Formats: sequence, C-alpha cells, structure tokens
Amino acid sequence: MRLFGVHAAISLIPVFVLGAALAVNFKAQERHRALTDAEDQVTLLAHTTIDPLINDQATLNAGAVTNANPLRGALNDGSVLRLRLWSSDLHDVLNQAPQGAAPLQTDDDVKFAQDAANGATTSRVTTLPTGTEPPTEEAVVVYRGVWVRVPKGPTPKLVAVIEVAIPYGPVKTQAATALKNQYRELAVGLGALYLTLLVIALSMSRGLRKEVAFNAFLAEHDHLTDLPNRTLFHRRAGAALRRASRDEPVAIAIIDLDRFKDVNDTLGHHNGDRLLTELARRLDVNTRPEDTVARLGGDEFGVVLTSVTDPEEALVRLRMVIDREVEVSGLPLSVESSIGYVVAPADGTDIDDVLQRADVAMYVAKANHAGVVRYDPEQDDYDAAKLALVAELRHAIDGGQLVLHYQPKTSIADGGVEAMEALVRWQHPTRGLLYPDSFVPIAEQTDLVDRLTDWALDTALEDVQQLAKINEGLAVAVNVSARSLGKLDFARRVTAALEKAGVPSTRLIVEITETALITDPERAARSLSNLHLAGVRVSIDDFGQGQTSLGYLSKLPVHELKIDKSFVSDMLVNHGHAAIVRSIVDLGHNLRMRVVGEGVETDEVLSGLRVAGCDVAQGFLIARPMPYGKLVGWLAERTPENPKRTRRRPLNAKGRVPAAS
Ligand code: C2E
Ligand code: CA
Ligand code: CA
Repeated sequence: MRLFGVHAAISLIPVFVLGAALAVNFKAQERHRALTDAEDQVTLLAHTTIDPLINDQATLNAGAVTNANPLRGALNDGSVLRLRLWSSDLHDVLNQAPQGAAPLQTDDDVKFAQDAANGATTSRVTTLPTGTEPPTEEAVVVYRGVWVRVPKGPTPKLVAVIEVAIPYGPVKTQAATALKNQYRELAVGLGALYLTLLVIALSMSRGLRKEVAFNAFLAEHDHLTDLPNRTLFHRRAGAALRRASRDEPVAIAIIDLDRFKDVNDTLGHHNGDRLLTELARRLDVNTRPEDTVARLGGDEFGVVLTSVTDPEEALVRLRMVIDREVEVSGLPLSVESSIGYVVAPADGTDIDDVLQRADVAMYVAKANHAGVVRYDPEQDDYDAAKLALVAELRHAIDGGQLVLHYQPKTSIADGGVEAMEALVRWQHPTRGLLYPDSFVPIAEQTDLVDRLTDWALDTALEDVQQLAKINEGLAVAVNVSARSLGKLDFARRVTAALEKAGVPSTRLIVEITETALITDPERAARSLSNLHLAGVRVSIDDFGQGQTSLGYLSKLPVHELKIDKSFVSDMLVNHGHAAIVRSIVDLGHNLRMRVVGEGVETDEVLSGLRVAGCDVAQGFLIARPMPYGKLVGWLAERTPENPKRTRRRPLNAKGRVPAAS
C-alpha cells in the first residue's frame, strides 16, 4: 500500500505540470482577448463618432470630435478615460479630452500611433495618472487610424489617428471571472483524469502484486502437489532447528515411497502424478498447521514436526496414512513407504548434517524394510558410513564425481580388441577414488541405482561414439544391476540412450550378473528380449556363481557368458574349477554363445582358457581398467597388424601350458 501511495504522489506531478502549463496559456489568452475586445470597442466608437464628422473633402472636423454625443457620454461616465486625435502625419494633436489631461505622449505612444498610421489597430496596457484618488489607473490604450475612401483614389486615405484609453479594470474583472471559470473547469477535468489514472494504476498494481505473490509461491512450492518444495523445506527445517531445544525437540523426517517407479511404469506418469497428489494431500491434512510437509522431488517427501513428544508414533501414523488404499483410475493402489528421521537437537543441529542423517536413516529403513527408523550412528545392523555414502551418491551423480574406467575384452585367437567394459569409479572429494564394491551394492537397495545405470549408459555411449575414430568396430559393455533390468521401461531407456548418443545398437553390450536373472526371472526375460529386439547384445556376468536353470538360460536371447573370475583365476591348480570352465565353454558354444574368461592375470591362465576353447579374455594380464584418456593411447598402440603386445607362451607337446619357471 505504501508503494501505491508513492506511486499516487509521483503521478500527481505530471498532472500539476500540465495544469500549470494550461493555466499560463489560459491567462495569456484572456489578456489577449481583453485587448482585442478593447480594440473592437474603439473601432466601433470610431465608426459611430468620428466617421460622421468627415466631410466631402475627406477632412475631419477634429474640434467636433470630443463633443460628439456618444463620446461625450463615454467620457462623462468614465467608460473612456482619455481621447486624443493625431494629425495623419502624427505631428499635431488635433483634439484631446479631457482638455487638461496630462499628456499621454511618450516614445511608446509614437511607436504605437505609427503602427496605427500604417494600418494596424494596436493596443497596450499601461498605467495612467488620474489626478484624483487613486492616483493611477490601469488602462488599455488603443490606437487606430481613421480612414476615408477617396472617390477615384487608389487607396483609402488616412485622415487622423485616434488614441483612446479605456479603463482596464472592468475588462480585467471580466477576464478574471472568465479565467476563474476556466480554471475551475480545468481543475475538475484534471482531477477526473488523475482519479481515472489512479484507479487504473491501483487495479494494475493489485494485479502485479498478485502476480508477484504467485511467482514467489511458485518458486517455493511444488507445482504438482502445491506443497512446499525442497528450498522452502530447507528454510523451514533450518528455522525449526534454530528453535529446537531439549524441552521442545524438533523431528525432521524423509519419506520415500517404495516401488513408486513401478506405478509410473505400469500405470503411466499421469496416474503416478495422481497418486502423488493424493498422498501429498493426505500428509498435509494429517499434520498440524505448525508442521511442514514438503515434496522434495520424485517420490520423496520431507516432514518437519515441531515440539513433538513422540515423533516415532507420529511418523508411524503418517506411514499408515500413506499405506491406505488410493483409487487411481478405478484401481485400488496401496504404496508402502520408508521413513528415516532425526530428532534435534539430540541427533544434530546443523541443517545439512541433520538432513543427511535423516536420509541415511531412510536408506536403513528401506534396506531393512523397517518402516520408520530413527538415525542411530551406533547401530550395528548397518554401516552408517556406507549409508551416508549413498546419501551422497545422489549428489555425486549430478555433480560429475563419477567416472568410468574401461577394461578391454580381447579375442583369445588373435588378441584383437572386441569390446571394452565400463566400470564405474567415484572420485570422492574427501575419500579419494572409490571402487564400485563400496557403493554399488548399497545403491542397488534403492532406486538410486537407476540413475547410476542411466548415467553409466549415457557416458559409455558418448565415449564409444568418440572412439569410433580410432576403432569403428569396438563395442562397449555396460554393467546393469538387477533392479534396473527389472524396470518395465528399461529397454526403452536403453534405446533412447543409444539414439541420444547416435550409436548403433550393435555397439552396446549389456552385462547382467547371473544372480540378477534369478531375482525376478520373468521381468528380466522381458527386458532381455526387448533389448535383443532392439539389437543390443546381452552378456551374463559372473556365470557359475548362481544356479540358473539351464532350460531358462536356453530360452533367453543371450549372446555371451562370462565365466566368473573365481573359477578362471585358479583353474590351473583347482581341477574342479578347470572342469567348470570347460563345461561353461561347452554349454555356451552349444547355445551359440561367445564365452569370456575374466580375471586373467597370467599367461598360463590365458593359455588354459585357449585350450579350453574360450573365445575372449579379460583381465589384468591384458590391461587393467583405465580412464578413457589412457584407453585411447592403449588402443592406438594396438593396430590390427600388431594386435597384442602380451607375450604368448608356446604350448607343450600335450597342448598344455608349460609350468611357469
Ligand atoms: P564385474 O562386472 O565382474 O567387473 C569385473 C571386476 O573385476 C572389476 O572390478 C575389475 O576391475 C576386476 N578385474 C578385472 N580384471 C581382473 C583381474 O585380472 N583380476 C582381478 N582380481 N580382478 C579383475 P571393479 O571395477 O571393482 O568392479 C566390481 C564390480 O562392480 C563389477 O564386477 C560390477 O559387478 C560392478 N560394477 C562396476 N561398474 C558398474 C556399473 O557401472 N554399474 C553396475 N551396476 N555395476 C558396476
Ligand atoms: Ca561386468
Ligand atoms: Ca564379472
């Protein structure tokens, strides 16, 4: 409102300026009109009084002028103050009334009289001495030529110049009255204009204020559910933390829906959105007005409960509220959720620490299907540090902290590089380079692994596309966890990634561990056949570890078996493992698959694999996983003419690898 007042005051300025300009103009016009009126009066007087006194010879009986009736009357009643009649050459005053009047002649008089003699009627306002009280009087003095048309003469002839002073007072009063009326009208008009402008401005500023408020709302709220977003949640949680005390503790919780992605996948995003909206509404109505419920993104909600005596009980109740069936497009759905929470100040007071701890607790809840879990660094059941890592992983993916290292897969027959396997590493800002074993298994407990898979796919495809310049036929193998493979839209995501990178599907191999196949055979089979249809090759990793039914395996569109490195590495000393290696090679070949031996660290093992009939080798002997930049150099050294630099030992007479010396 204050802003509006300022606005109103400012817009008054141009209205005032306009008013003042018009007023000055009006005043000038009024004065001009007063002078013209006076000139008209004198013209009339000349016509009625003087013209009749001009005789046939076109000379004027000047002496009779002041005695002429209308003029005498005018002099007597004061409507004419002075009169003077100049000779046409302006040298003589022919007549003057009143007779004793002070001479009017000044230089100005002569100038004006001269103009009149030249044909113009002129006038000016001046002050005349009166000889009585008041001593002076304002007057309009008009000068006008008296002309007569001479028969047969070429132009009218100037007979005299008449100079008449009439009081300015009445003219002025009349002009002032007219001016006053004009001013009044002007004021009313401008006032109306100003009010109209004000009303327009008021309604516009109201509209603007509404828009500003709306934008502020948008910036801090989630557009799907209208709940506060992460930004506002962060602010409110921070404020609640500052107020938290032992007597008035604050609970901050992170709620993550379980398997929400399945709802999106099976029923479509539209229904997923409806489910989220309904759950958001429920959370909102089931908390107190002083609490905060926010949507942090996707299927994640945040809750701040202030001065709560039993947060566990409150959150269990909220979880039950989420659990209750929701009808979406006629289908009764129920979603479970995992809730992790912290109680401040006991579990921390720094907003970032507290949120991260709530996140960790949420992952514990998720991993153990425990429902509602409070953060507890002492708990033995889980490695809090590892879980904290997963909480960080979310940001690491977006923050560019992950890198892919590549390990070549080479043909045992000729050493030619067939593919490179992408292996993820995390360049952690404080812990250094982390290997997948320390974060992938935990990421696999949550949908976070999907983001990891998507990231690895995108990055590997980008790299292989770059590598086409050096090696056009090279394929890239990407590891995909069971959880991602089980997603209904997995194959679609893969083809989308191929399209985005502009890489043909034949250059991608998807590696899935044997155990991943067993987790959800049906879904896995569906994803695999969709990948196969799209032209993507599938490799079964760590084969021999699980117990895949051979019947199931024979039906899957699989291109490659990778013998688990635990069998390969000691095949030369462990006869059982050597037998397994040979069996897998046979099985694979019978099912028309390529067979890869991984974990090849020595020439002997490589030879053993060759003897067993294995097609492809991978291991430290050939190359350790290396960053992309190093791989480029490594590949450049291995031209098709010189495919391998690794030594190959000649086999002995029995076709066996000679014992290492
Ligand atoms: P994996 O797919 O079986 O990958 C082979 C692992 O064995 C790699 O470990 C590799 O560095 C290691 N390795 C290769 N050659 C040798 C060798 O000669 N001797 C020995 N002792 N080890 C060798 P890494 O990179 O630590 O990866 C471990 C596992 O993490 C991988 O096993 C894979 O299951 C998983 N992983 C790696 N990257 C990703 C990824 O992007 N997504 C997913 N879901 N999982 C990944
Ligand atoms: Ca692998
Ligand atoms: Ca493996």
